Amino acid sequence: MDVLQRSPDNGIEESSILETVNAVAAGKPLSCPNHDGNVMEFYCQSCETAMCQDCTGGEHAEHPTVPLKDVVEQHKAALQAQLDAVKKRYCKESFSCLLMYQHSLVNELWASVLK
Ligand SMILES: [Zn+2]
Ligand SMILES: [Zn+2]
Repeated sequence: MDVLQRSPDNGIEESSILETVNAVAAGKPLSCPNHDGNVMEFYCQSCETAMCQDCTGGEHAEHPTVPLKDVVEQHKAALQAQLDAVKKRYCKESFSCLLMYQHSLVNELWASVLK
């Protein structure tokens, strides 16, 4: 049986983008830019940025921090809700349009978590 035909210029598939988001939500390790080798597991709510254990004891010691995965999970839920809404509303026949929208949403997600 034949696999569904895809034109080559479709590029990234819808599922691969959601996989990226899911990988983050599943706890894909992100290393700290300030502490080489340390995984960023926390999120400073005052500075709106992700950080590692060492960072929380430094300049963010007085700031409220939450587990990074909780923040990603929240963003993921919001992202998927938006995607569902878009899929229902328009772009049904324009796959590339939908992909562009997904890209911007995923970029937003990353930008808001990893400043
Ligand atoms: Zn750090
Ligand atoms: Zn902070």
